[in-house]
Amino acid sequence: MTEKTPLAKTPGINTRLTHIGPDPREQHGFVNPPIQRGSTVLFPDAETIRTENQKYTYGTHGTPTTDALCRAVDELEGSAGTILLPSGLSAVTLPLLAVLSAGDHMLMVDSVYAPARRFAETMLKRLGVETEYFDPGIGEGIETLIRPNTRLVHLEAPASNTFEMLDVGAIARVAKRHGAAVSMDNTWATPLYFRPLDHGVDISIHAATKYPSGHSDILMGFVSANAEYWPKINSANMELGLCVTSDDAYQILRGLRTMGVRLAHHEKNALEIAHWLEARADVARVLHPALPSFPGHEIWKRDFKGASGVFTFVLNSSPEDQQRKAKAFLDALTYFGLGYSWGGYESLAVHVRLGDRRITKGPYDGPLIRLQIGLEDVEDLKADLENGFAAAAAF
Ligand SMILES: *Cc1c(COP(=O)(O)O)cnc(C)c1O
Repeated sequence: MTEKTPLAKTPGINTRLTHIGPDPREQHGFVNPPIQRGSTVLFPDAETIRTENQKYTYGTHGTPTTDALCRAVDELEGSAGTILLPSGLSAVTLPLLAVLSAGDHMLMVDSVYAPARRFAETMLKRLGVETEYFDPGIGEGIETLIRPNTRLVHLEAPASNTFEMLDVGAIARVAKRHGAAVSMDNTWATPLYFRPLDHGVDISIHAATKYPSGHSDILMGFVSANAEYWPKINSANMELGLCVTSDDAYQILRGLRTMGVRLAHHEKNALEIAHWLEARADVARVLHPALPSFPGHEIWKRDFKGASGVFTFVLNSSPEDQQRKAKAFLDALTYFGLGYSWGGYESLAVHVRLGDRRITKGPYDGPLIRLQIGLEDVEDLKADLENGFAAAAAF
């Protein structure tokens, strides 16, 4: 065989997204991995089953298809290991269950994905874990909140719905100094635009339902841990018996191939619309970390490689008209669907409520409308939003 010229040591992200995961040589040369469905795995003899001395042992412990996806995610995150879970929410809750015990104290950012707070206030509270919420702007000031029993600090950046930024590195440094683990929900940025483990985070969490899926048809979560926390995460997953199907893992691996080009397009479309909204008199504020006017912009610029396609704007309104104006705006939209989640190819809009917040609840000068900017042509999206503004102004 002729020697090939060595490739660059650090290939670009789209090159990596194209080649990570399965090894075609292990699958008869086919580019994509087989979808290995299965519960039972057979062993060749009684001694092998007694010692479980073979790579695959049972469906809940992984298949060649799920392994191919885990390998791909590890490469993107720089993690020691990744588990796949049936939803993004289960990827948020599993690390909390894996790390926290009765009598422990957890610090959670106040601007967290609301169901994460609900988990802390229901199941974790019942199991004897106390949760305290902190302002996303806290930085090294988090030291004053750390107690001898603080075992975990849970972050999310930027914030769900309101997009406050966090100084992840500063918070992680303080937490580590006090022996607390750091977990972070990184769904918005994906490992393409932010790699939590490079900033001192131990456990990185993703709703793969969003950009990795990219098509609004699969629910999945990733939990990726560094070498220190990987055994704990892996063992909690085994104890709970959580797993995903190979069919879904295949679809997410397929989604990853185009995630780089999709994200670049989401980013460009979203920024163009964010700037356009910012210049309008009927918009009070645009909450998007990549806008220089946004308070957390400097941190975003320092730490993140890009912005995805989800942000929020504040529709100018007197306090008594907020509900009606938001409704009129949303009901006038055509391309923007009204629905939860994001990260798919199509645009979405929702009226954001901050009822669970304790610290980061405004006030804002009108209703908050969250937009997921899809892959449509941006002029068509602007025309759609124009209809929304016209309907909101008709009062
Ligand atoms: C959507 C989302 C989740 C939950 O993902 P699901 O797959 O819908 O359960 C978790 N965290 C963040 C930040 C999200 O946006």
